[in-house]
Amino acid sequence: MERTLVVLKPDAVQRGIVGEIISRFERVGLKIVAAKLFIPSKELMDKHYPADRAEFVEGLGSRTLESYREMGLDPIEQFGNDDAARIGEQVRTWLTDFMRSGPVFAFVLEGPHAIEVVRKIVGSTLPQKAQPGTIRGDYSFDSSYLANSAKRPIKNLIHASGNAEEAAFELDLWFSDNEIMRYDTIHQKHMQ
Ligand code: ADP
Repeated sequence: MERTLVVLKPDAVQRGIVGEIISRFERVGLKIVAAKLFIPSKELMDKHYPADRAEFVEGLGSRTLESYREMGLDPIEQFGNDDAARIGEQVRTWLTDFMRSGPVFAFVLEGPHAIEVVRKIVGSTLPQKAQPGTIRGDYSFDSSYLANSAKRPIKNLIHASGNAEEAAFELDLWFSDNEIMRYDTIHQKHMQ
């Protein structure tokens, strides 16, 4: 059994597709064990998308550079440089500002292999690469070039923890122990 954090970003909340997205997880049998709607603080966002975690910031930058290369576009035109760490920090700032631009719906899902199953249902980070049938593939078509031209993050609706280490850190950050509910679902009966 695993627990994973899911955050529906302001674009998902404002588009009124919170219910549709949650029903996809419920249909699979994942159990909602905590949930809340709120505008995250700057402090929370800076911990969730940390400026001092080089691996995260540079990863964000190098994936941006990679997609520019793939599209045959010049990152220097857009960012003024082609340094992964600097581009990553720019994207991180857009992202943390965007996440605070309206309410987000955060919840915790529990189930066998929940982290991997949820990422599969969410789909690829880049909407144009996300497969049909995934949340990002079915509900978004944004691109990094379009987003970066407008100095904003890619609007891909949803965040989900990437691995066990991230999930443990993020669950602790977003929810306190007494906000996590314990109950049985019908699905569990069929897995005994
Ligand atoms: P994921 O959200 O799939 O775990 P990342 O951790 O790489 O992906 O990125 C965090 C978020 O940053 C993405 O969901 C997306 O909203 C935004 N983002 C990622 N790459 C870019 C980019 N090149 N330009 C703008 N925003 C981006």
